[in-house]
Amino acid sequence: MEPDKLSIRQLHQELIDKKISAAELAKFFLDKIKKEDSKIRSFITITEELALKQAKMADEIIAKGNEELPLVGGIPCAIKDNILIDGIRCTSASKILESYTAPYDATVVKKLKDQGAVILGKTNMDEFAMGSSTENSAFFVTRNPRDTSRVPGGSSGGSAAAVAADFCKFSLGSDTGGSIRQPASFCGVAGLKPTYGAVSRYGVMAFASSLDQIGPFAKNSEDCQVVFDAIKGRDPLDSTSLDTVESQEELNLKNLRIGVPKEYFVSGMDKDVEKTIKSAIEKYEKMGAKIVEVSLPHTEYALPCYYIIATAEASANLARYDGIKYGSSEVNNPEVKDLLGVYIKSREKYFGSEVKRRIMLGTYVLSSGYYDAYYKRAQKVRTLIKNDFEKALSQADILLTPVSPTLPFKIGEKMDDPLSMYLSDIYTISVNLAGVGALSLPAGWVDLPSGRLPVGMQLIAKPFEEKKMFQAAAAFEKIN
Ligand code: GLN
Repeated sequence: MEPDKLSIRQLHQELIDKKISAAELAKFFLDKIKKEDSKIRSFITITEELALKQAKMADEIIAKGNEELPLVGGIPCAIKDNILIDGIRCTSASKILESYTAPYDATVVKKLKDQGAVILGKTNMDEFAMGSSTENSAFFVTRNPRDTSRVPGGSSGGSAAAVAADFCKFSLGSDTGGSIRQPASFCGVAGLKPTYGAVSRYGVMAFASSLDQIGPFAKNSEDCQVVFDAIKGRDPLDSTSLDTVESQEELNLKNLRIGVPKEYFVSGMDKDVEKTIKSAIEKYEKMGAKIVEVSLPHTEYALPCYYIIATAEASANLARYDGIKYGSSEVNNPEVKDLLGVYIKSREKYFGSEVKRRIMLGTYVLSSGYYDAYYKRAQKVRTLIKNDFEKALSQADILLTPVSPTLPFKIGEKMDDPLSMYLSDIYTISVNLAGVGALSLPAGWVDLPSGRLPVGMQLIAKPFEEKKMFQAAAAFEKIN
């Protein structure tokens, strides 16, 4: 048996049939990480002790035989390093939290622990989830397992890379403007940004609270669905979360209307990406789906709108890292004379440059005299974008779009040009502004002289219609 090649359901069966134990499974993946992660660097922290404890718990459930093992029970996974695990270091890949230990479990972690999932470690990311390449990590760069000279995408690059490299069966990431979907696309795996409110954010380090969602990465859509089912639902500790009532209807491809937004196929898209996405659309058409052209007319305002709202919220959320309440501090620096000095010196020394850029932008757009011109205006544009999606999703059941305008780019290629880095989110950020859910899955592969690179497509459905996306994805995966 090759545990890294089986789906979560298949592994679950192997565990129940006692063909392998959860402890053996944990050791298999921990060994693989120890041997191979030095090439990829997807993990910031390995949580071996916790993994073996969780595996023991799953094995005990199996041994008793009278209690049902949840599907994620005994399954090895990884967690992005901005999601808290009680007693484990949690850094958000920032120097300011380099030695910070989480005092409690995030709700998603508690749910996974309660169901016996085996947590192997914490994954690398862009500092405070700001970025699209994982190069903004204060610690090290993660490499794309499909081509190690390229970035894995970001900000959840470590979580995507860990799944692509078969270091775990699934992982969790967070997505504020594309941070699950874009790395999933770059690493050739599946990743879900759930509908806003579908998954509790209690215990995730907040970036932009009106946009952030936690979601899963896995090798395919079925595994993503298993994990989504394990973590979703209303949580009294996050007032934005709710229970989802999903339709039980089976999706019939013959009646499925797939909407293709015409604004997403304009200039700036890599030719190979365009070709791959168009061929995926044709495959759906061959399966019987009806392709309809839809319009998202405010697409061109999405990027500026996002970079006003996200930075404004980030500047408020990151105010808590002041050198007093959490993590690293300059309180003992002899140059520091007063409390304000502690704040200034600590933030200056321990925040990276992208984080500082966002805090400055966010503070500016919220400042008196500019608030109406920027923040309030952006909120109005956001409503227009949300209305675009509502309209498009009344004309189609699912929208199909590219995830990223380019193939995974080379490490270092965009580091000196933040604007071009921001542009890589052009197809993903509107989804967060609209609050809908979207699934990224491999649409195809492009053959380059240096090897094959994946191209992801994005399936978008109405709020809380994740099931529909999973069904449409599974139909596509079946024929590929
Ligand atoms: N790349 C986007 C940004 O830098 C999105 C990040 C995210 O989704 N966390 O803000």
